[in-house]
Amino acid sequence: MKVPILLPNIFNHPFTYKSELDLKVGDYVIIPFGKVEVTGIVWDEFEKKTSKNFIIKKVLKKIKTPSLKKDTIKFLNWFSEYNMIPKGMALKLLLLSGNAVEKISSEFYEQFKINIKKNKIELSKDQKSCLKKMNISNQKFRVHVLQGTTGSGKTMVYFEALKEIINKGFQGLILLPEIGLTGQFQNKFIEFFGFKPAVWHSGITKKNKKIIWSGIANDKIKVVIGARSSLFLPFKKLGLIIVDEEHDQSYKQDEGVTYNARDMAISRASFENIPINLITAVPSIETYDNIKKGKYSVSKLNQRYLNASLPKYEIINLNNLKLESQSWISKKTIEKVKFHLEKKDQVLFFLNRRGFSPYVLCKKCFTSYSCPNCSINLVYHKNKKNLLCHYCGYKTLLDRDCSNEGKCDFIFSGPGVERISEEVKKIFPNKKTVIFSSDTMNKKNSTDIMEKIINNKIQILIGTQLISKGFHFPSLNCIVVVDIDLSSQGHDLRGAEKNLQLYHQLSGRAGRTGKPATVYFQTYNLDTKLITDLTNKDPDIFLGKELEIRRENNLPPFQRFIALIITGNNERELEKEAYKFKSFIENAVEGKVLGPVNAPIFKLKRKYRVRLLIRGPKSLKVQNSLAKIIEKFKFSTGMKLTVDVDPINFN
Ligand SMILES: [Zn+2]
Ligand SMILES: [Zn+2]
Repeated sequence: MKVPILLPNIFNHPFTYKSELDLKVGDYVIIPFGKVEVTGIVWDEFEKKTSKNFIIKKVLKKIKTPSLKKDTIKFLNWFSEYNMIPKGMALKLLLLSGNAVEKISSEFYEQFKINIKKNKIELSKDQKSCLKKMNISNQKFRVHVLQGTTGSGKTMVYFEALKEIINKGFQGLILLPEIGLTGQFQNKFIEFFGFKPAVWHSGITKKNKKIIWSGIANDKIKVVIGARSSLFLPFKKLGLIIVDEEHDQSYKQDEGVTYNARDMAISRASFENIPINLITAVPSIETYDNIKKGKYSVSKLNQRYLNASLPKYEIINLNNLKLESQSWISKKTIEKVKFHLEKKDQVLFFLNRRGFSPYVLCKKCFTSYSCPNCSINLVYHKNKKNLLCHYCGYKTLLDRDCSNEGKCDFIFSGPGVERISEEVKKIFPNKKTVIFSSDTMNKKNSTDIMEKIINNKIQILIGTQLISKGFHFPSLNCIVVVDIDLSSQGHDLRGAEKNLQLYHQLSGRAGRTGKPATVYFQTYNLDTKLITDLTNKDPDIFLGKELEIRRENNLPPFQRFIALIITGNNERELEKEAYKFKSFIENAVEGKVLGPVNAPIFKLKRKYRVRLLIRGPKSLKVQNSLAKIIEKFKFSTGMKLTVDVDPINFN
């Protein structure tokens, strides 16, 4: 018989093979493809254009692994259509570097064996009522949003929900936005359930990946805590998906195969016909819109754990306080911080800029350091003793000959966390400090640092936005935002939403154990209303206003955006090509084609970049019409098109 087999490659259709084996849809097989043997899956439809003279090859063998569920196949087909990704590439996300795992000794699953122990955790009345609203007894698709203030105990509510699901024999998936979170989170999980969950992200070993993949496919592993990619595991009996911190923009995969893991999780739940819970303190604008429309149900936790109150806010107007040169912390701020330190409060200085200084310039020849591969300034990292491009990883030493003879004489413009850390150390020489950024916290000793922070052995933290992500530091009761700069808001359609999320999450780190806490905003901004709006206790007010602005301007979530980025080696050729491409697709697409414009980062990794934007109705027709016409356009050599459906970054 003939069978359609999808391969994990760039093709958007299955290939036809023949086989005497008893094969059904979803079976994993090994087949010859060109000169190599690859793993494929018996797909649900045949390839459309098969030439008669084509020699059909034979399936080599069937892999002994439970077949992929039809619902999952439907999901992958839809995923591919929605995100405009070849079906084969969607399949690749599911297969472990292109392979399936065949039989594995069951002793490997032992470590994840479920063994739910009784815990002493008792839900509050509010938590119980949220749990009831989640309505998990009905095992059908529905989206529920659990919206709760930071530190209100949302996790315990969905853990309870998950427990019921596991007890019924189903598998559960908890999606988290950051790998960095899984450590503290895993402990919380073990404390509640009494057994170890499988943790899945790009950083785990190959061996562990194999064990978890096959444990999931065989229904031997019941719970996975994972980053984006765990959404593509071959669950045999998935019963519940939880998306924690659903508003987090890192759910969007921007490079390579682009998709939004939160949205795809909702669609996977829909195809599997199972419930999904979105967890957040402040919903994303899309989720907020769906709550308003009644598409998603919602439950709310307004009280913080132990009745802790939310931090207070204070604005420190830098226009009235003269800062000394090369200094970024005002005298007034220092007084406030001293007051907190005396009370044994932990203090965080927040600045969302890695390294020492974002801009290095020679005062003799006036040339700055910029990346040779990207149109971006290099950031000086004093601790690493080099200048770094945060986009392509280019590195160079701070050592240059001047065009005015001799060595360059550098000025460092503006601070990064390393520079603030130096200033903090000067002001508080007797306090232990640590920098909390992706440069310092992704290493092996980060567990050690975390422990010291939790036990208040480190009194002052200097952190980037990494610290806003769900960490629980019991003594943190004072946050200083070194410079709240909201001026960039106009350039990014999601600017206001991003700021709302950032400052809400950030202040949520403070005052978690009941002591009074304050967030101080240093600012040059004379209009402080924006800060007051952002920090309002009821974020729904801000979201309501923001949604209105989006509606009036025909922006998402009211319209669909698809970004098209064309890259090439030659500036002028690229521009010509972009205009040619635009006129080619313009009349065929179900939507308006805007642009082309030079991308804000015009040169990235040695390639020039221009952007087009399609604005259309929220219907697959936009994607389908675009896919059809793109297929017919032949790009000149060296030019490449990237499609980003529902873009979040407009770099
Ligand atoms: Zn670069
Ligand atoms: Zn110079």
